[in-house]
Amino acid sequence: MSLLVVGSVALDSVETPFGKVEDAVGGSAMYFSTSASYYTNVSLVAVIGKDFPQAPVDFLKSRNVDLNGLHTSDGDTFRWKGEYGYDLNEAVTLDTQLNVFSDFEPVLTEEYKKSDVVFLANIDPTLQLQVLDQVEDPKFVACDTMNLWINTKLDELKRVLARVDMAVINEGEARMLSGESNMVQAAQKIMELGPKFVVIKRGEYGALLFTPDDVFFAPAYPLEAVFDPTGAGDTFAGGLLGYLASQMTFNSQTMRMATVVGCVMASFCVEKFSYENLQDLDYKKIKSRFEKFQNLTSFDSLGEL
Ligand code: AMP
Repeated sequence: MSLLVVGSVALDSVETPFGKVEDAVGGSAMYFSTSASYYTNVSLVAVIGKDFPQAPVDFLKSRNVDLNGLHTSDGDTFRWKGEYGYDLNEAVTLDTQLNVFSDFEPVLTEEYKKSDVVFLANIDPTLQLQVLDQVEDPKFVACDTMNLWINTKLDELKRVLARVDMAVINEGEARMLSGESNMVQAAQKIMELGPKFVVIKRGEYGALLFTPDDVFFAPAYPLEAVFDPTGAGDTFAGGLLGYLASQMTFNSQTMRMATVVGCVMASFCVEKFSYENLQDLDYKKIKSRFEKFQNLTSFDSLGEL
């Protein structure tokens, strides 16, 4: 199985009530591929500028992420500046500089074109479409997006949605895209645009999975200290798609499990700034949190109510 991701690799300046960082390593594809690399082989398509540090590139290599699709262009790396108030579920974008992404045209290698699973992480939908046009026969395609593209590139985004199996989107953006405040209705409207599966990320309130005949809810793992939610959504998607790619079955049961894996991975991300806490995970740490998660959500029925 092979998992291809296109998205941003970024330098983020983020302020939360608990601290701030400047030019920290981030980007949708950075978080996604780090998280997914704990489950499957990942190939990353993105562009960085000459100012991007070497350490995260070396880190991705150490995680066996295939970087043949990571281009270095003249110019500056994509930058995002955001802040969070005490409601850590809502990021406020203060500045977005596309920089090297403005004239990036992804060209997939022959091997990448044969990818089994494709994730179109949050990035300009025009680039998502260019990747979709090149992949030959993927078994499963999912996408994410954000308010910026809903506002500025809705037509292109709808063309993406018409061609994917799953949309992974956060609650606020699901409302914006569907025009519905109720999540069940929002998911139905989004399904009408194309995807058979819709996952709605609800920050500290977990995630909802909608399939054609089923709804599943996974809570977020209740952590004592949440430091920086940046990247939680992409880390969630990395766990979800990484797990699905490792199973290559896309039924209700694997989707439910994948949603939980997404929540487990996201819980690590938010405990520190940037992708710091995702760097030294291992099977044991992930399994231990997964078991706590299982304990959190299971109960024995005491019989008739
Ligand atoms: P999230 O998982 O939703 O918290 O995503 C956070 C990441 O999204 C940050 O690391 C940003 O670099 C990245 N990001 C923010 N705005 C954009 C954008 N317009 N296009 C691509 N990536 C973005």
